[in-house]
Amino acid sequence: LEVNLVPMQAVEEEWLGLVIVLHDITAIRRLEKVRSEFVANVSHELKTPVAAVKGFAETLLNGAMNDAETARSFLQIIYDESERLNRLIGDILELSKIESKRVPLQFSPVHLGSFVAKTLDMMRTSADKKQISLDMKVDDDLYMEADEDRLRQILINLLSNGINYTPDGGKVKIEVEEVAPAGGEGDAETIRIVISDTGIGIPKKDLPRIFERFYRVDKARSRSSGGTGLGLSIVKHLVELHQGTIRVESELGLGSRFILELPVIQSWTK
Ligand code: ADP
Repeated sequence: LEVNLVPMQAVEEEWLGLVIVLHDITAIRRLEKVRSEFVANVSHELKTPVAAVKGFAETLLNGAMNDAETARSFLQIIYDESERLNRLIGDILELSKIESKRVPLQFSPVHLGSFVAKTLDMMRTSADKKQISLDMKVDDDLYMEADEDRLRQILINLLSNGINYTPDGGKVKIEVEEVAPAGGEGDAETIRIVISDTGIGIPKKDLPRIFERFYRVDKARSRSSGGTGLGLSIVKHLVELHQGTIRVESELGLGSRFILELPVIQSWTK
């Protein structure tokens, strides 16, 4: 609690009284703590790939370059780590832009059938590599108002997680339907998008935390699949900017379901 005492004086030096202002600064403190933890996390996440690039480059310079095979494998590591760095920086900038609301969303009507089909096509190559089947079931003639680029980003992040965290030969599926308004008369129609997989699943105790920045159930696994640990927090922010909600259900070893609910029409354009 912060206390400010402000004396109130009239023009002729006569004391009128004292105004006591009490500020509850716990919320501010909490925010500061979250921010400094974020900066610490970011620094740590950035340092790891930089250290790898530096270390392998150094070893190459110190003679490893003379063996072509070793040189090749070290250069591959340097390349992969630079890519990770690139993705990480991209995600961090994206998240900070979204959080500071510096991205005005551009809403337009989106035809969900063709939109989802196109988005799935972008994921085919990575799914094929693991013989994962990608299926969609979208009701006919569904439209919703959305920022197309952001909606695509939401779906891509969830679909690529589905592919990453599903063993070879598994299934990833996206289903889209319109659901009845929650609160009866007058409530906006809602689009429900469910992205499910037959993957490794998420332990119960981790479920509440997976939307946090940099939270990963298994750090090594996320790293080896190229994850930044920011995908789901970006998704959550983007869903909220669409006035929607996201939740997850998961069964360890069986798979996960991410359920999005988004209004068909954005209220400020109604
Ligand atoms: P990452 O870049 O590590 O994938 P995300 O923010 O996208 O970061 O996800 C956070 C964590 O949630 C992941 O590290 C993973 O442990 C877990 N996770 C996300 N999606 C799935 C999924 N479909 N199946 C299993 N675990 C998942």
